Amino acid sequence: MWPSTGMVQTQQRRPRVVIIGSGFGGLFAAKALKRADVDVVLVAKTNHHLFQPLLYQVATGILSEGSIAPATREILRRQSNAEVQLGEVVDIDVSNRTVTSWTPEGPRQTSFDSLIVAAGSRQSYFGNDRFAEHAPGLKSIDDALELRGRILSAFEFAEAEPHADRVEQWLTFVIVGAGATGVELAGQISELARYTLRRDFRRIDPARARIILVDAAPMILGTFDEQLAAKAMRRLLRLGVEVRLDTAVVDVDGNGLTVRGADGDTRRIQASTVIWAAGVAASALGRHLADQVGVDVDRAGRIPVEADCSLPGNADIFVVGDMMDSGLPGVAQVAMQSGTYAASVIAARAAGRPVPGPFRYRDKGSMATVSRFSAVASVGRVRISGFAAWLMWLFVHLQYLIGFKQRVTTLLHWLISFLGRGRAERVVTRQQVARWALDTEPHT
Ligand SMILES: Cc1cc2nc3c(=O)[nH]c(=O)nc-3n(C[C@H](O)[C@H](O)[C@H](O)COP(=O)(O)OP(=O)(O)OC[C@H]3O[C@@H](n4cnc5c(N)ncnc54)[C@H](O)[C@@H]3O)c2cc1C
Repeated sequence: MWPSTGMVQTQQRRPRVVIIGSGFGGLFAAKALKRADVDVVLVAKTNHHLFQPLLYQVATGILSEGSIAPATREILRRQSNAEVQLGEVVDIDVSNRTVTSWTPEGPRQTSFDSLIVAAGSRQSYFGNDRFAEHAPGLKSIDDALELRGRILSAFEFAEAEPHADRVEQWLTFVIVGAGATGVELAGQISELARYTLRRDFRRIDPARARIILVDAAPMILGTFDEQLAAKAMRRLLRLGVEVRLDTAVVDVDGNGLTVRGADGDTRRIQASTVIWAAGVAASALGRHLADQVGVDVDRAGRIPVEADCSLPGNADIFVVGDMMDSGLPGVAQVAMQSGTYAASVIAARAAGRPVPGPFRYRDKGSMATVSRFSAVASVGRVRISGFAAWLMWLFVHLQYLIGFKQRVTTLLHWLISFLGRGRAERVVTRQQVARWALDTEPHT
């Protein structure tokens, strides 16, 4: 059960568990192994754990990046059996039980007795990767800071722009994808323009900004109950957001995008800021593993797993979270619970205890904020909207945010943004301005 082959293994007393990723799946797996008689090596390509559900608040100036991304080392510093390694995993050798990661020092190979793969997902442009250049997505801190730079610079450039049509283009923000992230972004950009920036400019009126939410589906918030989605839709419309449903994106360029409506006609939207919130695909490590064990990934690149989240034919390799094709949604709770579960199987084997039964997901509900004091939430059979749902959203997010400092700073930022209308994080760096200005030279 616990092979001790390989150079490193012969020097080790305890089984080594390698975990790929410091997101919800990876971090919860590592923490769940705290008392297990194993050595844990967590390899991730960033030095932090990222609370992705609040990324849109970094992108719109409400929260600082540090509030939602504590250093993984700090989280695990008291866990003596865990080591954190920074590196991007480029190869997993299923037969030889090794993981190769890329580090500034070059490739590093780490052997394992058990492996938990929790590398999550990336933005998907549904085969149109060229859209990425002009329509960045929102998956990482880099993305959020890039978007914040673009959104805030757009108002600055509009103020400096002498031509009226170009002012309008600068003040048009298009969000593609009306799932929770798209809705939250649209609501927050609208509140930024209408309230936070209202008195800050002399030549433009930020409240005139157009925020357009586009989706190929017939309704926003497709995973929510229809009545809740309709309530969220009404709230967005009251905020002045233009919602274009049954509308597919055909092309994106430096001046905007071309869309096709339900009537089959194509239309042009001139916009300097286009944000992609339309889809995700599993990490490429999924296909890499699938090729080695002879299974197919699904359309989103997710890999099928056994009832205990293990890779088919490999009881010591687990795939959890967004990467697994298990019929479950790609949400944080699935990642946390599957990561914790995989760790419990490993810990039981290490202790010689009976392993737990198959993985069972406990759905704790879903929620999305539309604007200040307004959210929708569904928990079991209960459907809530408005202020009560927003309060629930606030407490749940504070509860799951990792790190005491992060909770305190988040709460303070929320007081500034929700009790007042201010945003504490409005810095745009000189490099961002220069890059963005070059990318968006006036086109005729
Ligand atoms: C903007 C946004 C908003 C969201 N909002 C919600 C929400 O409100 N509610 C909800 O439940 N879910 C939400 N989700 C989804 C939720 O965040 C994911 O389902 C969850 O993060 C999946 O966890 P995971 O551990 O599988 O992957 P992730 O949390 O994405 O973690 C992946 C980890 O793997 C690392 N990694 C990736 N590739 C490699 C590699 N090759 N080598 C080393 N490390 C690697 C990454 O750096 C990261 O640490 C949201 C997602 C996004 C992007």
